[in-house]
Amino acid sequence: MGGLLLICHFFFKAPSYLFWLGLGYIVPSFALGAQSFMSSQILTLFAPCLGAMYLFGAWASTYAMALRKNANAHSRTALILIILAVVLLTYYSSVNDQLWVRMLIVNLTIATVESLVLFSIFKHYKQTDFLNKIVDYSYLVIVLYAFVRGLIIFLFLKGIEIHMLISSGWWLMMLAASILSSLWFAIVLLGTLVRDTVSKLNDERSKDPLTLLLNRRGFYDAVKFNTAQFPQRKYFLVMCDVDHFKKINDTHGHLVGDQVLQQMGQTISKNVRGNDLVGRFGGEEFIILLQTEQIGSAYHVVERIRLAIEHDQFSSQKISLTASFGVTPLQQRNLSQSIDAADKLLYDAKRAGRNCIILDQKKPTLTRERIQF
Ligand code: GH3
Ligand code: MG
Ligand code: MG
Repeated sequence: MGGLLLICHFFFKAPSYLFWLGLGYIVPSFALGAQSFMSSQILTLFAPCLGAMYLFGAWASTYAMALRKNANAHSRTALILIILAVVLLTYYSSVNDQLWVRMLIVNLTIATVESLVLFSIFKHYKQTDFLNKIVDYSYLVIVLYAFVRGLIIFLFLKGIEIHMLISSGWWLMMLAASILSSLWFAIVLLGTLVRDTVSKLNDERSKDPLTLLLNRRGFYDAVKFNTAQFPQRKYFLVMCDVDHFKKINDTHGHLVGDQVLQQMGQTISKNVRGNDLVGRFGGEEFIILLQTEQIGSAYHVVERIRLAIEHDQFSSQKISLTASFGVTPLQQRNLSQSIDAADKLLYDAKRAGRNCIILDQKKPTLTRERIQF
């Protein structure tokens, strides 16, 4: 599981907390593996070293949680606790060989080190989604369980010898619970990661990176989704094209042109309602789906956008510009046809002198009402 987390980090550019969490799994696993092959004397000899590996693992997991939640891991306090624990482990292995005391020291230090980040995480607990909540509360349970392990050792494993461990139900139960809880934690954490990655990919697939508006594909999908969800509602499609945009690029450069497009996207978005859709259709062309009953109210929204663009000053160069619009009802939910119709109306608006809106009233005769400014 630890290896999987490291692979995610190194090969799939997953967040850096996975690296520390991976170490948090791998290093203690090595200690556990090594300890299974050791005789009682060698185990006593290496107790401080194995203990340090367990404790490093605990700190690495804590640090991973802190990175993930933008919280404080209190690493300096953790280091002091770990050093203190290793000193005690040295004493209880070389001077006074007491296996159960060493187990108690390791478990209580793990619990304390892991709990250092808890306060910071839960003090101002931000509302987060269900899966992330599961990860956070699983971590809390794992830390509490580390304290419980200390209690079990104190109550039931006092004075236990190494050869008795294998036949101790408490010890086997503790080991099984530790492994299962670690696996559970890694699985839910990877679950959040897969979910985040998929939603990021979906976002990138459907968004225009410059304006952060929907791109063509995203707009098509969103229109399909909206119209399928509320088929009884009326929709209008608006094509908008910046007038003489080429001149802006030629005069001020491409970078300013990009700033203008970003601001243009914001201006349009600010002037529509929450259930309307705005996308960047290409170059300096924007597309809007208005959800409204009458072409009159669609016209008012578009006029508001037109005026906002006319009055805005764009980019750091304070450029004034205008845009032209074509507005058509969404025809029988046929998006391509409607886009085609809106595009033609936009072309009419350009020919009519720009900075104007041409409406296509869906009357039985399909006559056009042209409004010029
Ligand atoms: P009209 O009023 O007829 O629409 O004239 P126009 O100059 O706006 O139209 P034209 O199609 O001739 O030019 C569009 C320009 O938009 C050309 C292209 O360089 C520019 N453009 C397209 N995409 C981008 C972009 O992402 N960034 C920048 N800066 N410019 C872009
Ligand atoms: Mg243009
Ligand atoms: Mg154009």
